[in-house]
Amino acid sequence: TALLEIRDLKAEVAGRQILNGLNLTVNAGEIHAIMGPNGAGKSTLSYVLSGKPGYEITGGEVFLNGEDLLAMEADERAAKGLFLAFQYPLEIPGVATLTFLRTALNAQRRKRGEEELSSPDFMKKVRELSKKLGIDPDMLRRPVNVGFSGGEKKRNETLQMALLEPRLCVLDETDSGLDIDALKVVANGVNQLRAAERGMIVITHYQRLLDYIVPDVVHVLAAGRIVETGGKDLALQLEATGYAQYQQSEAA
Ligand code: ADP
Ligand code: MG
Ligand code: MG
Repeated sequence: TALLEIRDLKAEVAGRQILNGLNLTVNAGEIHAIMGPNGAGKSTLSYVLSGKPGYEITGGEVFLNGEDLLAMEADERAAKGLFLAFQYPLEIPGVATLTFLRTALNAQRRKRGEEELSSPDFMKKVRELSKKLGIDPDMLRRPVNVGFSGGEKKRNETLQMALLEPRLCVLDETDSGLDIDALKVVANGVNQLRAAERGMIVITHYQRLLDYIVPDVVHVLAAGRIVETGGKDLALQLEATGYAQYQQSEAA
C-alpha cells in the first residue's frame, strides 16, 4: 500500500474548481517535491489534505495508508500521522511554546487511545529532540512564534514535527521569504526526519530549497493537476526554463 494515494482529485474553493483531477502517489521513505507556478493549486492541495473548511471535494479519492483520508475529521488525520506546515506559522500570544507542543502531542495521543505523556517524560523527549535539532530550550519558554525570527519559527516547526512523529509531512512553501540560514534549518529538519516509514511532500516555488533537500521525485503542478513527474534533475531544468511552458499549454 502506498503511504499516500491521490486519485483524480477535484476540489472547489469559493465555487471555482481549483484542483482538476490530480493524481499523486507517495511511498514510505520517499521525499517528493511539488513545484509549480503561482496560483496552480499547490496550497489548495495542502488545505484539502488538512481538511480545512471551505475546500469542497467534488471528485476523486485520497488514501493515507489505505484509509479514506477525506472521510476523516481534521484531528483524526493528524492522529493518523498527517502533519502539515504552512508558509505563515501561527502566532499564539500568551501560550508558551512548550505548553503548545505538549497540548498538541497529548491531543494526538488521546485521539489514538494512548496515555498522555507525564511532564517529566515530555520534558525528556523535548530535551532530546531539541539537542538533536540544535534548538535552544530557552526559546521554548517564549509564546508560540511571537517575535520569533524566521529561523526560530522554522526550528519550532521542526521540533513540533519531530515530536509528533508523523507518517506523512507536507510542507507548503515553508521556505518562502527565508534567508539562507533559516532555509538550512528547514532542510536540516526534513533531512533529520527522513525515515523508511515516513514520506514527505515539499512544496516549493523555487529550486533553492532542493539544493539542501534532495528529493526522490519532483512533480510539476499546473492548473490543478500534476502535469510532469521526474527525478531531482527536473527541478534544475525548471530553474532554467521557468513555468511558462506549462501555463501556455493550459491557455491553448
Ligand atoms: P498556489 O499555492 O499554487 O500558488 P493556491 O492553491 O493558493 O495556489 O491558489 C489556486 C487558485 O485558487 C488561485 O487562482 C487562487 O486565487 C484561488 N484561491 C485560493 N484560495 C481561494 C479562496 N479562499 N477564495 C477564492 N479563490 C481562492
Ligand atoms: Mg502562491
Ligand atoms: Mg501556495
